[in-house]
Order: sequence, then structure tokens, then C-alpha cells
Amino acid sequence: MVAQVIDGKAFAAKVRAQVADQVAKLKEENGITPGLAVVLVGEDPASQVYVRSKGKMTVEVGMNSYEHKLDVDTSEEDLLALVDKLNNDPAVHGILVQLPLPKHLNEDLVINSIDPAKDVDGFHISNVGLLGTGQKSMVPCTPLGCLMMLRDHHGSLSGMDAVVIGRSNIVGKPMAQLLLGDSCTVTIAHSRTKDLPDVVRRADIVVAAVGRPEMVPGDWIKEGATVIDVGINRIERDGKNKLVGDVDYASAAERAGAITPVPGGVGPMTIACLLANTLTACCRVNGLPEPEGLTA
Ligand code: NAD
Repeated sequence: MVAQVIDGKAFAAKVRAQVADQVAKLKEENGITPGLAVVLVGEDPASQVYVRSKGKMTVEVGMNSYEHKLDVDTSEEDLLALVDKLNNDPAVHGILVQLPLPKHLNEDLVINSIDPAKDVDGFHISNVGLLGTGQKSMVPCTPLGCLMMLRDHHGSLSGMDAVVIGRSNIVGKPMAQLLLGDSCTVTIAHSRTKDLPDVVRRADIVVAAVGRPEMVPGDWIKEGATVIDVGINRIERDGKNKLVGDVDYASAAERAGAITPVPGGVGPMTIACLLANTLTACCRVNGLPEPEGLTA
């Protein structure tokens, strides 16, 4: 079997176009422009790239983008004061504090100081609890993007065997909750899982979120399974820098029914879902109907 490639880049462009349409409608019919505030502390190069591209795409869909760049030695008190200001600013519908934060800042404390209704990353403990209990919440962007692609490919996921490799709070755990919400039978595998190949071989859906280059070989993949590769790993091959996923794409594509590439799979969906979450947050706070197909 040769796998169908799930084109995350094209899918993300479609999601952004949907968001842009809704934003235009909100402006025209309600006089509201959704706004996203992104806070970056320090000068981590990868974070700077992410923040820049988030800002650019926010503006491209017609939303207001507010960037707050703070010195690496910003005190916790000052950062919390900024979050409080953004919480109380009616022009700001979504707040994202770019992680990781410098070591002297308590990430949990900062994330949990964001108004849950504006927590477009879905990391606030209230949103984690709401998702875990199947209630309306803000859903973390990367798992939401994975879910959208799976729903688009399969329609219903009900009754499918899914394995999520990785148990992080930002990807693995919320991904498992979302799959459970769509009635999959879910296994969460991690670094201590006894027989990972055997666990993966039973799965109709494999979501790999580990951060180890090409650790899942094709012969672990059940014939016809859908593979969602969240991993982003920089490696050097043949003297060149390359981005690869957690799955060995070439061998997995020979067995899978469908697979996301790296790059061009999950990555572009993450920012698209951040914009979708900002739109959702804006609609909710204004008592307007939520955009269809852009939430879990
Ligand atoms: P993390 O380091 O927080 O978690 C990794 C998980 O993998 C852990 O739960 C650990 O138990 C598990 N693990 C480690 N070694 C393992 C092994 N040998 N077998 C099975 N499980 C193992 O990472 P994260 O933040 O969840 O990110 C995972 C990957 O996804 C990274 O490559 C990251 O860059 C990528 N990522 C991509 C996006 C995107 O937008 N595409 C977003 C977030 C993260």
C-alpha cells in the first residue's frame, strides 16, 4: 500500500481562509475585530521565529496582533502585571505566552494567571480540566490540528484503536483526551512503555509526539493505519541540515493508509488552530455563535 499524503500545509491554508472569512463577517456585522496578544520573554531564536510568524498570520487573517517583547531578565511580578493588563483589555481576545520561559520564571504560575477564556494555547489548568471532563474549553493548538486532519480524513473516528506516543501536557495528553472524546479506544505510550512496537502495531491511528528523529519504523505500522507525525527534529544528513519527524516517513508510507509529512504536516496546522482559537474566544466572549468546524 502507498499511503495518501495528508497535506497539512494545504489544510492549514483552508482553515486560515475560513478564519479570515469569519473575521471579515464579524467586522462587518458586529464591528468587532478579534485581537491576539503574544508575549515573548527573552531572545530564544526558535521562539522569535514562531512569534514572528504568528504575528504575520494573525494580521493576514484580518485580526489585530499585539506583540509584547520583554527582556530576558523581566521579573515575575512585571510579567504577571502585563498578563493582568491583557486579561482586562477588551481588544485582546487571545493571550499566548511563548514557552519556554527563562528559568527564573514559574511557567505554571504565569500560564494559570491568564484568563481561561483568553487562554488560546489551552494550557490553563481550568481548560485542561474542562477538556478532561468533556466540557467546552480552549483546546491546545497542535492536538486540535491533528484532530481536524483525522476527522477530515476519516469522518467518524468512533471505535478506532488509537495510540498516542508521548505524554506531554502540550501534545500527548490533550491529544489522547480529544481522541477519547471522539470515541476512539486510546492507548498513551511513553518512554517506559514495555513493548512499544507491539502497541503501535495494533493501532488504526498512530500519533507520534516524542521528539526523537525517525524512531518509529515502517514495520511497526499496521497496514492501512493513519499516521500523524507531530515530531520536529533537526538532523544533519549527507552534510545538510534537515527536518524530520518521529516516524521514518519512507518506510511508514509503504504501509500506512495515510500519513502526514514533516515538514508540511502538523506544523502549519498549529498556527492555523491558534487563529481559530482566537476567533472562537472572541465569539464566546461576545455571545456569538462559534465558528463551525474550527473547534473540538
Ligand atoms: P516532550 O519532550 O515534552 O515529551 C516527549 C514525550 O515522549 C514524553 O512524554 C516521553 O515519555 C516520550 N518519550 C520519550 N522517549 C520515548 C521513547 N523512546 N519511546 C516512547 N516515548 C518516549 O515533547 P513534546 O513537547 O510533546 O513534543 C514532542 C515532539 O513534537 C517534539 O519533536 C516537538 O518539537 C514536536 N512538537 C511539534 C509541534 C508542531 O506544531 N508540529 C508542536 C509541539 C511539539
